[in-house]
Amino acid sequence: MFDGVSAAPALELKGVTKTYTVKQGLMGKRKPLTALRDVSLKLEQGEVLGLVGESGCGKSTLAKILLGLEAPTSGDVLVDGERLGQQDRLALARRIQPIFQDPYSSLNPRKSIADIISLPLRVHGIGDSASQQKAVREMLDVVGLPSRVMNTYPSQMSGGQRQRVAIARALIMKPEIVICDEPTSALDVSVQSQILNLLGELRAEFGLTYLFISHNLAVVEHLATRVAVMYLGRIVEEVNASDLFEASAHPYTQALLQSVLTPDPGLGVPDTHLGMAYPNPIDPPSGCAFHPRCAHATDLCSTRAPRPVQHRDGHVECHLIDPETPMFQED
Ligand code: SF4
Repeated sequence: MFDGVSAAPALELKGVTKTYTVKQGLMGKRKPLTALRDVSLKLEQGEVLGLVGESGCGKSTLAKILLGLEAPTSGDVLVDGERLGQQDRLALARRIQPIFQDPYSSLNPRKSIADIISLPLRVHGIGDSASQQKAVREMLDVVGLPSRVMNTYPSQMSGGQRQRVAIARALIMKPEIVICDEPTSALDVSVQSQILNLLGELRAEFGLTYLFISHNLAVVEHLATRVAVMYLGRIVEEVNASDLFEASAHPYTQALLQSVLTPDPGLGVPDTHLGMAYPNPIDPPSGCAFHPRCAHATDLCSTRAPRPVQHRDGHVECHLIDPETPMFQED
């Protein structure tokens, strides 16, 4: 795991764009859908970067690109300063492991828990059967499960136990970076905090670096050292976590923070704060993509996209923050 020597970011995206071609309806024309738009982002060694945004904002596409499951249309992904495309896939899988949202669908129901957790060791040809079984027992202990579950199956476990198995499978390769894609959203609220606490303990114990993806800022607040807020394929605010939770700068982040007060997490971001539904990424709004839902929008916002502006130790994309925009000068 992380030895603290490398100075390069653990992961870095440089100007990454990802465009799909999608068909609208049976007879519809094929149209481009840009899921990520010139995204630049750094994940420093040992930090927990929370990536937050509503469903469809591009955060899962970003996770797939970082895991090497999809290639960017343009731009670069660097791991420890080295381009992702130049790295051996198996070597990369040793260093970056995922934990997905739904542990039930990500665990093979026909395999025993021991087989599921030891699969990465077998794929990578690490150790013999006895040492693999020993490693499984150790990982079960690390994630707080008894070794007697080794011969059981995912269907015999609760959602929280299955997610612990998924975490054990991810960590058995001793990765440096873990991409956690909504790891608690499929779990009961009472179990969510147990899994978040476990992820926090494991990070401290093994010096892990996390990219923690969630639609819920309250979940991210538990763990994140930095937060990047994504809207329609752009990072609109990226800053130290304590600064963001103390005083966010972007109107979208502010609306997301207000939505945290919604008692039912399944309700998502309430319209009372954002005015209207999330836009269709096939036909994004002009100018600032957030302008149809923004309480502070002016005419300028519908015609000119804001540029990234340095703000505290990060950046924000909003004309309100940019000292060079006319709306700022009028204020
Ligand atoms: Fe709102 Fe305008 Fe800022 Fe966009 S640029 S977030 S529309 S104030």
